[in-house]
Amino acid sequence: LTSREFHPGNSIIKVGDIEIGGADFVTMAGPCSVETLDQMMTCAKIAHEGGAKVLRGGAFKPRTSPYAFQGLEEEGLIYLRQAADEYGLKVITEVMDEANLELVCKYTDIIQIGARNMQNFRLLEAVGKTTKPVALKRGISGTIDEWLHAAEYIAAQGNSNIIFVERGIRTYETATRNTFDVSAVPIIQKLSHFPIIVDPSHGVGIWDIVPPMALAGVAAGASGMIVEIHPTPSEAWSDGPQSLNEKNYLSMMKKVTILSQTM
Ligand code: PEP
Ligand code: MN
Repeated sequence: LTSREFHPGNSIIKVGDIEIGGADFVTMAGPCSVETLDQMMTCAKIAHEGGAKVLRGGAFKPRTSPYAFQGLEEEGLIYLRQAADEYGLKVITEVMDEANLELVCKYTDIIQIGARNMQNFRLLEAVGKTTKPVALKRGISGTIDEWLHAAEYIAAQGNSNIIFVERGIRTYETATRNTFDVSAVPIIQKLSHFPIIVDPSHGVGIWDIVPPMALAGVAAGASGMIVEIHPTPSEAWSDGPQSLNEKNYLSMMKKVTILSQTM
């Protein structure tokens, strides 16, 4: 169901009046974690100003340490939705388990499956039973073949609104948080009819390396990107080092817009 062989043409994923996989490059921007309503309002304003159409923000956070901030849960979903609505943006947020799927679906337009859950097959089946678009992140050590099969778990349950997200993979390299695999863009496009977007933030983990990798994603033909921004990255509750401040996000978006229009 995921393979190109079974589906002529490209699948376009509709989120309201936004099309992912269509003619326009779609940017999803926002903080790693939802922190406060004020922070979300500021992020939504900045995201919108740069041309993003979707607001991101984690309310359930899959942190490496169990002692790190785990997310505001429903309170965070409320802030995220409120801020997005204020600026006419759609919402993308992560669901970590089946138990919270219904709750997350109440607030979000796009369900994000995190890298750590790419092979959580019961969760994939559960989101496959919904009608919401699903952004499926590539697993931390996920091969392209494993990623395609993960998407198949979603599609097999009847949900054919899938968006692949390249977010970097673990390699021997330590200079970046992950190794951003931009070649995944044309490879997925060759193998699947579903669109692929890039996540340069988690792809590299270093804020000043994010803009060139975002542009690389555009040049590779990605249908969009998801990027982390924060009003004051040094004070972010998670992923501050890879988050762009307003000025850097807006200057990146100028270039992204110009390049994507020439593609
Ligand atoms: C995130 O988007 O903040 C996140 C946790 O991403 P990933 O699952 O790619 O690590
Ligand atoms: Mn993050």
